[in-house]
Amino acid sequence: MAYDSNNIFARILRGEAPCHRVYEDTATLAFLDVMPQSDGHTLVLPKAAAENLFELDDEAAAAVMRTGKRVALALREAFRPDGLTVMQFNGADAGQTVFHFHLHLVPRYAGQPLRSHGRGMADGALLAEQAARLRTLLGS
Ligand code: AMP
Repeated sequence: MAYDSNNIFARILRGEAPCHRVYEDTATLAFLDVMPQSDGHTLVLPKAAAENLFELDDEAAAAVMRTGKRVALALREAFRPDGLTVMQFNGADAGQTVFHFHLHLVPRYAGQPLRSHGRGMADGALLAEQAARLRTLLGS
C-alpha cells in the first residue's frame, strides 16, 4: 500500500494539525496520545514518511529508538510509573490505525490495567500540562 501523505500524523508533522508536543529534533517528533491507555502515553515518530517497520530505513529506525529512550527516561521521572510498555503495530490486522510508523511508550502503574486502545479522549488541559512538564525535563 502506498504511503498516504494525508494521514493524521503526516498532517501533525507538517503543522497542519495540533499535537501536545513532548520532544522534537531534526529526525523525530514525540507527542502525547490523545486517547491515552495510561497517564503519560506518548507516541514517537520519525519525520521521514514510512508506513510501518517494513518501510522504515535504518537511519530513521535508529533515530526513533534514540528518541524513544530519551522520552522514556523523562516519563519515568515525570510520572514515576512502576514500568513502561513499548508497543508498535504494523498493518490493520496487527492493530495499526494510523499509517505512519510510531512507537507507543506506555507507562505502567501497579494494579492498573491499560485503558482501551484508541478510545476515550483525554482532557486537553491535562495533556497540555503533562506535555509542558515533559518538555521542561527534556529541555525541548
Ligand atoms: P496505532 O493503532 O498504533 O496506529 O495507534 C494510533 C494511536 O494514535 C492511537 O493510540 C490513537 O489514540 C492515537 N491518535 C490518533 N489520532 C491522534 C492525534 N491526533 N493526536 C495524538 N494521538 C492520536
